[in-house]
Amino acid sequence: MSGAHEAVARTLLVIGVHTEERAFGKHVADEAEKSGIHVLCVDHGLSHKRRYGDFFYHSTFLKELYLQLNQQIQGKYPLVIDLHSGVNEPGRFAEIYCKETGFLDALGRFLKADWGAGSREPEAIRMLKIVKDTSRCDGHPKQGYSVCRSFIPETVWAGGHYLYVGLEIYLSALGEGSPEEWRFARRIINCIHSCYRKQKDGCHQQ
Ligand SMILES: [Zn+2]
Repeated sequence: MSGAHEAVARTLLVIGVHTEERAFGKHVADEAEKSGIHVLCVDHGLSHKRRYGDFFYHSTFLKELYLQLNQQIQGKYPLVIDLHSGVNEPGRFAEIYCKETGFLDALGRFLKADWGAGSREPEAIRMLKIVKDTSRCDGHPKQGYSVCRSFIPETVWAGGHYLYVGLEIYLSALGEGSPEEWRFARRIINCIHSCYRKQKDGCHQQ
């Protein structure tokens, strides 16, 4: 068992909240440990089919699942990345969801630096700020991010137990994805992880 100090310094990657996305998540998570990222695979996730069949069941189950996750992981990880996947036939892109504007700012700079000047890849990554009530944010365009509400409990994305970052990778087709798509996801995850650590190190030095 690793020491408490080591555990606190680690990032957690959650995969498999939706069962159809688990195979993609497993490929992406393949090399996570090498980067110092722990992986939690949800074995009994929720199927997308239920979303359309029974909305009430779906949203209740999902909330319960996230509350259980929250119990399991709070206090153990400072950063939690929740990986999902969707489909976008015209081309792959990613969406990053987080409530911390400061972190999104830092991450935007980090992604650009990681891909290097001239790369168009960071343009395929959209960042959104999670808010409780989107109608109240209309008057605050200064923050520079599109806002969205989250389908997961507030204690997860805003509870202060850890920094919650949702990541949705849009694949060219439904399924486990391609090696190129896994690499794209891994790179973004490593950027989120490294950017967070860099920010923390910066704070400690002050
Ligand atoms: Zn999902």
